[in-house]
Amino acid sequence: MNLDQKTVIITGGASGIGAAMATRFAAEGARVVVADLDAAAAQATAATFGGLGLPCDVTKEDDIQALVQRTEAEHGPIDLFCSNAGLAVGEPSHAASASNADWSRAWEVHVMAHVYAARAVLPGMIDRGQGYLLQMASAAGLLNQIGDAAYSATKHAAVSFAESLAITHGRDGIKVSVICPQYVATPLLGYSTPDEAGDAPGLLSPEEVAETVLQGVAEERFLILPHPQVAQYLQFKSADHDKWLESMRRLRDKVTGEAGTTDLRRIHRHI
Ligand code: NAD
Repeated sequence: MNLDQKTVIITGGASGIGAAMATRFAAEGARVVVADLDAAAAQATAATFGGLGLPCDVTKEDDIQALVQRTEAEHGPIDLFCSNAGLAVGEPSHAASASNADWSRAWEVHVMAHVYAARAVLPGMIDRGQGYLLQMASAAGLLNQIGDAAYSATKHAAVSFAESLAITHGRDGIKVSVICPQYVATPLLGYSTPDEAGDAPGLLSPEEVAETVLQGVAEERFLILPHPQVAQYLQFKSADHDKWLESMRRLRDKVTGEAGTTDLRRIHRHI
């Protein structure tokens, strides 16, 4: 999809990768609505390119319905909805140790928010015979995130839901992409600016991710991998699951040994 003159919503658009995508898509000529739990930050990000910033808690279906209605009233039918909001949960100790509230929150933000968005925009897109659902997941949704079982499980579910959308609605003219980055220098990893990341290995800036996403959307590619090596890791996993698990155990030993924690804000420097 060429984004010029297209109406686009980006959730979690006030910060990090969402803000970078909003800015990059607006530069392509899209009318971008930035939606976020943090209304003031959404407005501040949107103001940098003359867009609209709106409050939205993606875990509330009514908020998503209201966001879609307000956007359509301002800009007409939505061409692309990007479900990007997300959060890290973490594990206090063992793999099942995050609280029920944390597991539920991860499920609501990473999965149900995508369902609510699709429910809000799909009927109109199907009627028009076109539309784009751009879903943020993570490399953790294809592989795994050491130290965050709830994040990994819900990002896997996000990838699966994106596949269901693509299978069920490809013939309706609906395009679907799922974005699966590894580490990116954003507040989610504890960075308020990408410069703070210094020379951390394998870490991309949000702007680099936004550029890869723009290319993926232009090519209407399902799997968007800002870190291309993820494709090889995925092949390795599919070829021999047990070997892959042992390699992940060795990686876990290394990163937790060096960092002294499983906190992803620290271990990413040792991957
Ligand atoms: P970030 O913390 O900079 O941005 C996340 C944004 O989502 C924030 O503005 C936050 O207010 C918003 N948000 C959280 N819960 C919300 C809710 N209920 N309703 C509305 N907005 C909400 O983080 P980021 O790194 O830019 O993350 C963006 C997406 O990218 C997330 O889905 C994350 O899981 C994914 N991702 C990030 C990385 C990484 O290393 N940073 C890697 C892979 C995937």
